[in-house]
Amino acid sequence: MCGIVGYTGPREAYPVILKGLKRLEYRGYDSAGVALLNSGLKVYKKKGKVADLEESLIGKDVHANIGIGHTRWATHGEPNDRNAHPHLSASGRLSMIHNGIIENYALIKKELLSKGYAFKSDTDTEVLLNFIDEIQQHNDCSLEEAVRVALKRVVGAYCILLIDKEDPHTIIAARKGSPLVIGIGKGEHFLASDATPIIEYTKEVVYVNDYELAIVRPDELILKNLGNEKITPYITKLDMDLAAIEKGGYEHFMLKEIFEQPKTIYDCLRGRLDVANGTITMAGVENYMEQLKNAPRIIIIACGTSWHAGLVAEYVIEDLCRIPVEVEYASEFRYRNPVVNKGDVIIAISQSGETADTLVAIEKAKEQGAIIFGVVNAVGSSIARASHAGAYTHSGPEIGVASTKAFTGQLAVLNMIALKIAKVKGTISDERYHNLLAELEAVPEKVEAILENADAVKAIAEKYKDSSDALFLGRGYNFPVALEGALKLKEISYIHAEGYPAAEMKHGPIALVTETLPVVFVATKDSYHEKVVSNMQEIKARRGKVISIITEGDNISPTLSDDVFVVPPADEVIAPMLSVIPLQLLSYYAGTAKGYNVDMPRNLAKSVTVE
Ligand code: GLU
Repeated sequence: MCGIVGYTGPREAYPVILKGLKRLEYRGYDSAGVALLNSGLKVYKKKGKVADLEESLIGKDVHANIGIGHTRWATHGEPNDRNAHPHLSASGRLSMIHNGIIENYALIKKELLSKGYAFKSDTDTEVLLNFIDEIQQHNDCSLEEAVRVALKRVVGAYCILLIDKEDPHTIIAARKGSPLVIGIGKGEHFLASDATPIIEYTKEVVYVNDYELAIVRPDELILKNLGNEKITPYITKLDMDLAAIEKGGYEHFMLKEIFEQPKTIYDCLRGRLDVANGTITMAGVENYMEQLKNAPRIIIIACGTSWHAGLVAEYVIEDLCRIPVEVEYASEFRYRNPVVNKGDVIIAISQSGETADTLVAIEKAKEQGAIIFGVVNAVGSSIARASHAGAYTHSGPEIGVASTKAFTGQLAVLNMIALKIAKVKGTISDERYHNLLAELEAVPEKVEAILENADAVKAIAEKYKDSSDALFLGRGYNFPVALEGALKLKEISYIHAEGYPAAEMKHGPIALVTETLPVVFVATKDSYHEKVVSNMQEIKARRGKVISIITEGDNISPTLSDDVFVVPPADEVIAPMLSVIPLQLLSYYAGTAKGYNVDMPRNLAKSVTVE
């Protein structure tokens, strides 16, 4: 969600921060601002894009060697200039940016109001800032000390960066439940909510943990816990490069990421899948094989697109491993009183590894004795660190807000996990095991073949782009793909879309079918295919417009369809990795045909770090 950038060192801070904020735009936001400290403390902020802020600062004094910048995704108070960050404390001494939510802000605000504080914004952030300000003034203590005292009272999630007018070299930062990375340069430090703004300056980073406080100066990084004890910073090397976070000639990140999939899926399989020897190497799975294969139940926890990947995995794991699987929305799971029995394994799926609901849900399951297995894209992220074991999807940085390559990466990882468990458990025949290994290996090539026909999807998208609604139907392994197709279309083209199991539409949604309603069938050849064809007949009989995603060689579906898109044949376990590709393209082309900014769809954020 919101972006955070900070800099202290010999460079001009403003250009570093501005560029960093632009790199973080993909996370989704509604306003932007910077605080710069030289002879005085200057705060500039504006509703809208980073470019609007930049324009408003032309001709202004932005000279400084220390500063903090923010892109806000409003939670408390509407998106406007006043509520944008950074905020300035009542004393005028401190400036702060914040990602997250202070849950007990109302109580603290009441206390501060009674002490005569007034507020310029509606945010929870300004309340925390003035609380820190009050502690600092009242106790005449250092900012570091005031922050520590304040954070002990705070309930909620935060990543905060503060600067103090009286100390022109130091940034104080702290986090709980919201990511913070510090890049270590030569005589300079970079702070950000993810590594993308840092990568062009240094590859050496420290991931700050929950309840840690960082005191950051040009040539010094001190990490402490809230008890004021020093912690040795653990330096990690970033394994991404700049090209991975730039558009590389594509018009949008989303299109680039869709087209990257042959490579990202290959990268995910590489070094793990060995078809010739019939092996899959995944240390995380091997270390926990006993627990995985004997699990009385696997609970998959995720949100959004990752939840759809979890639904596909439910079919795969139950089919191949004969272990009962439940797929849960993290946001529901964490607030229910879920039954987690000893021995249950939780698989947590998240692209960013920072999804707040998923993170809390796994902490809750951990307390109840579950083993946590993370399927995450972002290396070193909070969920990766909170898991007992896991497997990275290796999809590379995903910048487009709508998840595409991370989804196919998740499916590749989940398929490999299922195959490994099934092999050890003996619930899969040797022949099927070897076939599926070979099928997995062939996916990148088949995705490539689908992408060569992207123009055919473009033509379909242009034909239906003005529809107000769409229905996506599929059965079995393709049911979650139908859900994912509907989600993508909603997110990117703002066309109202619903996904259903194809047979379920008779129980309600069929009432929507008219001559103008596009109904997308995910109808690749599988054990349910004949049934899906019957469902197609039912839509056609009511004059709906049928668009179908079918397997090469299927001669029946085209006779029932207004438009078809053909994908290469694949085993039904693998098919979702192929059938989802045209649906990603469909939403992309519908969104761009309507002139929308598909990389930053309205109201959405990339990594949802608030609950
Ligand atoms: N809760 C804060 C606000 O509404 C921060 C939101 C964010 O994470 O951007 O201003």
